[in-house]
Amino acid sequence: MAKLSGMDLLEEVTAAQRLSQVEHPRSYLGMSSLGYQCQRAIWFNWRWFNPETFTPRMLRLFSRGHNTEQPIIDLLRLVDFQVWDVDPKTGEQWEFVAHDGHIKGHCDSVAERHQKRMVVEIKTHNVNSFRLVTKGNLKLNKIEHFCQAQRYMEALDLDLGLYCATCKNNDSLYFEYIYRDEKTIKWLLERERFLLEADEIPGGISEKDTFWICKMCWYNNICYANAKPVANCRTCRFSELAEKGCWKCSKKEKKGTMSLTEQWMGCRQHCHF
Ligand code: SF4
Ligand code: SF4
Repeated sequence: MAKLSGMDLLEEVTAAQRLSQVEHPRSYLGMSSLGYQCQRAIWFNWRWFNPETFTPRMLRLFSRGHNTEQPIIDLLRLVDFQVWDVDPKTGEQWEFVAHDGHIKGHCDSVAERHQKRMVVEIKTHNVNSFRLVTKGNLKLNKIEHFCQAQRYMEALDLDLGLYCATCKNNDSLYFEYIYRDEKTIKWLLERERFLLEADEIPGGISEKDTFWICKMCWYNNICYANAKPVANCRTCRFSELAEKGCWKCSKKEKKGTMSLTEQWMGCRQHCHF
């Protein structure tokens, strides 16, 4: 029998993971991204400018993050939290839909303890990021996660959130209660409307490519090196929002909405922003 090779198996698994990646990026603007520092980056992401691709190793990391949710939910149940990890109305993952399907969010769970109902968000961190969140002020130290929880509280009409953080290097745990913050919610709602309605590229966080956030940004070459984004309907001036989270083209004679694959393919009349 030929000697079995672990390296060959790793290559096989990695290739299979690459093939199983979705063909086109997320169709809606995610509530989880609304608190990101740069509004232009959020818009680029939603409008499929140079969609970010992940290596098989990163995909495994994401799935590891997902797999840490159940053990934490089990711990909460151990201390008398009632936890709904799926929406009892649908039996599916919690999903919040706004702006006729163009904005969506998915929270990890909803829980209740001592008659207080709350949104639960569970996040995995590396050791440095974990050290930062354990300083005890999520709004200051991890604004994206704080905003995500606020937007979900608004969607569920709740006043409380529970942030659960775990460190993937040593399995330490950290919990923080988050209280509803009307000012942040108002800002988020205005921001999402602005992004949906923007018909020009929104302003970025900086105009200097040396700014630290821009230096690390996936879209750096578009903002600062005149790189053209991928030509698809989302990056085309003629695309328009349609009902129920769909998109249409103002240029086409044949009216009607376009499938995700049609949007991804675009056409020769594509016109860049
Ligand atoms: S490079 Fe800077 S300005 Fe451009 S999208 Fe990224 S963070 Fe925003
Ligand atoms: S002109 Fe072509 S690329 Fe632009 S939105 Fe219409 S179908 Fe898409």
